Amino acid sequence: MGFLHKRRPSEEGGDLVYVSLVSAIDEGGCPICRLLSKVEVSALQSLLYEHVNDPYVRKLIIHGWGLCQYHSWLMARLAMEDRSLGSGLGPAIIMEDLLSRYLEALNKGTFPRAGSGCYVCKQLQEFEEVYVESFALEIESTDLLSKYVANSKSVLCSRHFNMIIKLANESVRERLLEIQRAKLKNLVNIIRKYINKHDYRCQESITEEEAESWLLAIEALVGLRALLSGLHRVP
Ligand SMILES: [Zn+2]
Ligand SMILES: [Zn+2]
Repeated sequence: MGFLHKRRPSEEGGDLVYVSLVSAIDEGGCPICRLLSKVEVSALQSLLYEHVNDPYVRKLIIHGWGLCQYHSWLMARLAMEDRSLGSGLGPAIIMEDLLSRYLEALNKGTFPRAGSGCYVCKQLQEFEEVYVESFALEIESTDLLSKYVANSKSVLCSRHFNMIIKLANESVRERLLEIQRAKLKNLVNIIRKYINKHDYRCQESITEEEAESWLLAIEALVGLRALLSGLHRVP
């Protein structure tokens, strides 16, 4: 990941992170959360597909005393819902090893906290930095901001908005704040319409945008995670 920190996005927008950010903006929701959801899902998919017996990955897992609660359950859901991932065999091999080590530790009188050094969480943290820094940088030098404006369903969550606005250059900070306020105001109006249409006197039907507005509001306030939103599901 180190090299990404040092690279400046190209003017033409050919940069790989730029391309990812644009496609995340197209998707709607918080672009940073959406990208991170993909990172955690693909990290666990590749663990189950090919790395269960990989000595390097196994060392990461052992070193962190397994995956955190959230990523353990995301791994379980992926294993259960995608047959191509070998159902329960991968997780069983990992858990047998971890549980034996945990038992050994107890026998020696130590009390490790399982999942305390989750390697997927560490990876996510690195990716989050890269995506947030790139977003802040690219709204200065590319058309990223106008793409963000153009999709009303794309709304940075409060965490990622705060991170980006802190890093953003003064020249774009005001504009980003203005855009964010306009997006949130628009979302409030859509939710109000949705609520009002529940009145029995109202004849108008509820649009798809209105029906999804409160979900987008959750994402705008507290962000999104693959497992909790169901976005981990393979088609
Ligand atoms: Zn977010
Ligand atoms: Zn984790």
